[in-house]
Amino acid sequence: MSSVPSDASTADPKDSLLTDGAFLVEAPLHAEAPLPWPRALRRGILSVDELARRGLVEESELPRLREALQHLDLRVPAAFQPGIEAGDPALALQALPSREELSFFPEELDDPIGDDPCSPTPLLTHRYPTRVLLKPTYLCAMYCRFCFRRNKVSHSEHQALEADLEAAFAYIRAHPEVREVILTGGDPLVLTDARLREVLAPLQALPQLKVIRLHTRIPTALPQRVTPELIRLLRSTGKAVWVIAHVNAASELTPEAIQAFGSFVDGGVPVLSQSVLLKGVNDSRESLAALFEALVDLRVKPYYLHYPDLAKGTRHFRIPLARAMELVRSLRGALSGLCVPPLVVDLPGGRGKVLVEAQSSRQISENSWEFISPLNGERIRVDYPPCEG
Ligand SMILES: *Cc1c(COP(=O)(O)O)cnc(C)c1O
Ligand code: SF4
Repeated sequence: MSSVPSDASTADPKDSLLTDGAFLVEAPLHAEAPLPWPRALRRGILSVDELARRGLVEESELPRLREALQHLDLRVPAAFQPGIEAGDPALALQALPSREELSFFPEELDDPIGDDPCSPTPLLTHRYPTRVLLKPTYLCAMYCRFCFRRNKVSHSEHQALEADLEAAFAYIRAHPEVREVILTGGDPLVLTDARLREVLAPLQALPQLKVIRLHTRIPTALPQRVTPELIRLLRSTGKAVWVIAHVNAASELTPEAIQAFGSFVDGGVPVLSQSVLLKGVNDSRESLAALFEALVDLRVKPYYLHYPDLAKGTRHFRIPLARAMELVRSLRGALSGLCVPPLVVDLPGGRGKVLVEAQSSRQISENSWEFISPLNGERIRVDYPPCEG
């Protein structure tokens, strides 16, 4: 292998699924031009040998890390590489594989939140009455080592087939109660504009469908993808398009990422964020506060903080749930209400998401309640005399 650092490690044949070969015909670059996104994608690191060459993992670990990649591919996005090389653990832990991924525990499941029992067709999950998930790809711009869908994500055998997409559209058409489609995966924004248009067109045609949501890692993992053409495409659907960006650490908010968030919001596409509470990445008051405040500064509302699902080989990312609950309660009142998302657990077996914050209220008699003040932890009793209703 040559010592060319940038595009050398990018021979993943699956990339042709993402970019329709677009990067093969790219024009020469000018220094001041933004990096075209297929080329930025291609700068991701795909092999553990390349990680070892850069001194990011130990040579002696390579056999185990290769084994870990049999469960979930590797893609360390270009956007994360400078931070990782500068020693930022919040980025390294999310993107670099570890031997701990090979330790499975009895509580861990292949399908941790029970998508399969709620999937009438392979690419569609219908759990809640008015909204469905549609997974037009299982590929991503980075592979998060804690991924809860790691049993399908990045695996060739789960790639979307046209027939499966058609079946998903037919299902949505046959269920007029569905008013919202959530494109997820994988990452729907690794698809080219042309492909995305093919996915959006059948949805656009349905009058009962009001909202299209995109769940994506793109703003921080591949910010170059957020082009003016993409914004125009999303707006052209005529639906209320919401972006829910997956972001876990303030250090993901590079100048390029900041620009990507700005492009969505300025372009009329509201953005919320989802984060996963991850040991070593963001499991402190300070790191969560820095993340949520930085997002609100970018006009991005933190929507959910997820306790990590019980996916195989991810125990090393979990902290005790009780500690997680206290951590989030400790942010209430301390930070602007705009900043603090609810903490949620997604129940195994497809039984849904539950808000699990530490209790700040309890009923002590029929008309009397005790509350914990968010300002100083003081216990306050309040009477609510009987009222009709
Ligand atoms: C999480 C999830 C949703 C979205 O839930 P919201 O609370 O609306 O964000 C929808 N469908 C499925 C299957 C989900 O797991
Ligand atoms: S971007 Fe989402 S789906 Fe893709 S690896 Fe990360 S967590 Fe999993």
